[in-house]
This record gives sequence, structure tokens and C-alpha cells, in this order.
Amino acid sequence: MRYFIAIAVAILALLLWFAPADSQIRLITLSKSDLGWTVTYQLNEPVTQLEFVRSPNESRAARWQPLTENIEIAWRNGSEVIRSKNGEAFSEAAFILDATYTTLPKDYAPFSPFSDGGMLIHTARFFACADQCGAAHHEWPMAVNLTTDDYLLVDGQLLLDFHEWLDRDSGRAIYIGSQPPETFSALVAIIDPALPSSLRQDMITELPMIMSYYTKQLGALSQTPTLFASYSDFDGDYYGHQGGVLPHQVFMHWYGEQALKNVDEQNTLWFFAHEIAHLFQGAGLKYSNSDEAWIHEGAAELMSYLYSDTKLARSNQLVQDAVRKAQTECVASWPASEPFINVGRVNFKAHYSCGLVANADLHAQLQANGVGSGIFALWEAYSTMVSDGEPANSETYFAAFEQLTGYASMSLRQLIDRPVSASIAP
Ligand SMILES: [Zn+2]
Repeated sequence: MRYFIAIAVAILALLLWFAPADSQIRLITLSKSDLGWTVTYQLNEPVTQLEFVRSPNESRAARWQPLTENIEIAWRNGSEVIRSKNGEAFSEAAFILDATYTTLPKDYAPFSPFSDGGMLIHTARFFACADQCGAAHHEWPMAVNLTTDDYLLVDGQLLLDFHEWLDRDSGRAIYIGSQPPETFSALVAIIDPALPSSLRQDMITELPMIMSYYTKQLGALSQTPTLFASYSDFDGDYYGHQGGVLPHQVFMHWYGEQALKNVDEQNTLWFFAHEIAHLFQGAGLKYSNSDEAWIHEGAAELMSYLYSDTKLARSNQLVQDAVRKAQTECVASWPASEPFINVGRVNFKAHYSCGLVANADLHAQLQANGVGSGIFALWEAYSTMVSDGEPANSETYFAAFEQLTGYASMSLRQLIDRPVSASIAP
């Protein structure tokens, strides 16, 4: 009998060990009605505190009004939490949301409105866990409930009324509105009607070309990506734009009237060429960490310059000019005595400038060694190693280089200090 108990305890311990961490959240429901936007947390068991996974600042406290009694949003140990006011546990928490555009430090905007009433929402803004979030929490059951005539676009699917899905990791962008998506050859897009028609036209012609260039270099994507380009007015004199990328999604939002007058079409297409490169970076991007961002940011910079050179038939002119400029910027931001990690933490731009220089040099060396597709071959070799369990870091990146050339790479610093190669070819 004792053995049975011991075995049962061992099995139970194993089950607990392997069970995914439970956030205790049964469902997070975002609702849109004629009255506005709300979010409701339903829990498996009553709790006294829910911690948000992402707390770039304390703005929820001002933008989320509790509908449930006895709860509030507070700041605790560097995170925003929903907590019971009097210590009594709660099993549901609902809030009215201020669904306007707001920028968050180092995070995507939770709401990016379209000028016609549509809305792009970043779901990870709503991820939370009972008590505290840990590294093991990475899945959240989410739902959207619509009592308006809008539809929901999630993972390329058009849905009405109510839809539930299991969300994860950095979340995704979902669209709720009435504008039908446009389908290009390898891309679905929702482009705000308020954006200048010349920009719209450029996007329609160029985006499929960008997609087909990367497809040729890095292989087809597993899923058709969606692109969102939105615009909203903004109170006050602020204007600008912000964009980003999530798995299978690229987005850019312009805010403030002045932003429309200042749209730089070349820069916008350049932005999309860089972001779409990330969509094709696969495992090499998925597991990357921000201290090693020079790898994927520098590679995306290089890939988008190579695309532009090919499109404009400028042989290697654009990439050479860009690399020279980046080299000056990189050297100025990186004192030789300082480890690069410290430089990148203080000045994230160094990942782009130093990353472009280093990747361009690796690209030229690969081509000089008969690897014609250069950076693209390196990226594929690196992604394969990362998929096979190697860490996504410089060591693995340089090991992938060695695999292709047969010799060890120079250090990042040595790559930066080399004269810019004249032999880069697109
Ligand atoms: Zn990037």
C-alpha cells in the first residue's frame, strides 16, 4: 500500500510538473457595443490580485474604469495589478476602456483607431495572471463579443458576433471594424481611407514586390500575413507615427493631422521593407533577445537595402552609402573599451547601425566565398540552428557563418572596424 501511495504521489508530482502554468483565467472578453468598449476577466477560482504581463507604465489606472465593485488598478513591484480593495477575493473583474490612441514606452499601442471607426487592438495588453505572472505563463483564452455591425479579423479570418481563441506570447493584432480587407498576391491589408492616395497607391504596387523578393530569398511564409495602416486624429499638437511587427502581422499608425501632411512615402515603404523582412526571419527572430538585437535588426536593415538596390537597379549603391553612414554612427556610439551589450542597452539605435555594418561585412565575405545569396543563406543556416535548440545569439550566428565559409568569423567589434567592403552585391 505504501508503494502505491509513493507511486501515486510521484505521478501527481510529475503531472503538476508538466502541467502548463495556470494563469487561473477562464476567459478574457473584449466587448464592443454601441456604448463603447469593455473588458471582462472571468476566473477559475477567486483571487485577490491579477498581475498584468506587460506594464510599460501606469496608464491603465487612468484609462480603465472598474465596473466591478471592490476592485482597483494599482502599481505593485513594478507592475500594474487589478486588486481587491478590501482583501475579499473576486472571480470576475470588468472595466470600461478608454479606446483612444496612446503611445506606450517600449510597447505597442493597445488601441490604434482607423479614421472610419475601425480599431486595431494589441491583445497582449490584456494578458494577466492570478497573483503574479511567471515565465511559464504564456497562453491566455481570449474572446471578442460584438453587438455592433462590425466584424472581427483574427488570424486572417473574418468573424461576426462572438469568437473565442487561445492567444499566446506577445499576443497579436486584431481588427474590429467594417472596412473589408484587400487581398494582394501574398498579403492581406487594411489601409485607412484617410491616408494620402499616393501612399496607398505606392503600397499597393510595392508591397507585393517586397513579399515576392523575400519569398525568393528566404522561402514562402507559413501563413498569409496581414498589414494594417491606420490613422487617427489626436488631441493637442502631437503627431507622429509608430509601427511594429507581430507574428504574421505588420502595422503602422499615424496620429495627428500634421502627420498626414508629413507622410514621407519613401520612408514608409522603407519601413515596410524592414518590417516585412522580420516576418520572414522565422525562428531566428522568434527566440532572439534584445541584447543581441543587432543580429535581426542589422539583418533586416541590410535585407531592405538589398531589396531597394535590386528594385531600383542601383547595383550596390544604396547599401554601400547606408553602410558607410552606419559605420560612422556605430563607431561614435561605441567606445572600443565598452562591451556592446552595455552600448545597446543605453542606445538601442546602435543595434541598427552596428548591426547593419556587421551584417553587410558578413554578407560580402560570404559572397566572396561563393555563397551568392550571402546574408540570406546565413539567415537560413542560423534559423535552422536556432530551431534545433541552439541559443539565438552571436555565438550561434557566427557558428552559422563558419558552417558556410569554413572559417571562424571575426568578432562584432572587428567587423565594425573593417573598411566598408566595396564588393557588396545585391
Ligand atoms: Zn526591426
